[in-house]
Amino acid sequence: MHPYRQIVLASRPKGTPTAENFRLETGSIPIAADGQVLVRTQYLSLDPYMRGRMNDAKSYAAPVSIGGVMEGEVVAEVLESKHPDYRQGDLVQGRIGWRTHAAVEPTDLRRTETGVNPVTTALGVLGMPGFTAYSGMKVIGQPKPGETVVVAAASGPVGSLVGQLAQLAGARAVGIAGGPKKCAYVRDELKFDAVIDHRAGDMPEALAKSCPDGIDVYFENVGGPIWQAVLPLLNRYARVPACGLIAHYNGPGATEQDSLSSTMLAVLRRSLLMRGYINTDFVEDHYDDFMRDLSPLVASGRIRYREDIVDGLDNAPEAFIGMLSGRNFGKLLVKVG
Ligand code: NDP
Repeated sequence: MHPYRQIVLASRPKGTPTAENFRLETGSIPIAADGQVLVRTQYLSLDPYMRGRMNDAKSYAAPVSIGGVMEGEVVAEVLESKHPDYRQGDLVQGRIGWRTHAAVEPTDLRRTETGVNPVTTALGVLGMPGFTAYSGMKVIGQPKPGETVVVAAASGPVGSLVGQLAQLAGARAVGIAGGPKKCAYVRDELKFDAVIDHRAGDMPEALAKSCPDGIDVYFENVGGPIWQAVLPLLNRYARVPACGLIAHYNGPGATEQDSLSSTMLAVLRRSLLMRGYINTDFVEDHYDDFMRDLSPLVASGRIRYREDIVDGLDNAPEAFIGMLSGRNFGKLLVKVG
């Protein structure tokens, strides 16, 4: 096997990505120049936002170019350092992409600090997805005792933490997940107060039944039919952190209705607060609190999480494609080295 491997964007997907949109390339291990650090990837994080980077469209971040290495955050080990701040063996993380090695500037890296928690948590519950849940709930959702909080993709790294944070605040957590296994996990292990299977066919009715007092916080991860089921149940002054819309990332579905007018009417008539955000908006003000609050809760087992670890960089495209239709079960990571 070639020591150096990387996965590049071969072509832009039309709708759902396929294996042909990616290309595996091999070569020799890069050489660190003076001032640089050579790292070897241990774990690569696969996240829904990467679908957006495959499009040539204006967004909050630039697209990956055709032939460019797929973007992604990794946890890596320093193999060689030509910079005084890092030493061989240090554990670091950074957005070095879908590749086995990289020679990078230290400004592109930070030390991985998970304390007693496993290193993989740096990409999940104690990493970007965890911070996304924490900051969206703290700044926008603001759950109060007795309120009802609803979140979909509830077995994933963002949704699972949203529900547990809701309960820590004294609110009821209602999760929506796909299929009986994920629902059992959300109900029995994460201990949400109720869970609905959005693949079971009666999702709007089941959701209404699980939310007899309406919904006070809807943490939006999905959009599409789930948003349409949530909308009539939102209480006056409900808060909606608009975090993700994974049902729309591969383009509009055949049966998707335009719900803009009903959404805007509800925003007005029920004085809803909807706020979109990218987790980086909140890093400066809330990241330190996140690590201080969450690390001990994860270490003690009070906050639970699940990881779905795929072996080998070559399997990253297939795993990523599967995540967009819910084949992952927990935070999706690729074990690279
Ligand atoms: P997950 O690991 O939970 O994976 C995505 C999940 O979405 C799937 O497993 C699937 O779960 C669910 N899903 C996919 N398609 C549909 C659909 N059509 N209808 C309903 N559910 C669907 O992802 P994350 O926890 O990493 O991310 C959750 C959301 O948060 C995403 O929308 C993501 O883009 C967003 N996000 C936003 C950030 C920000 O800064 N704003 C940062 C990080 C994430 P199931 O099988 O249960 O349906």
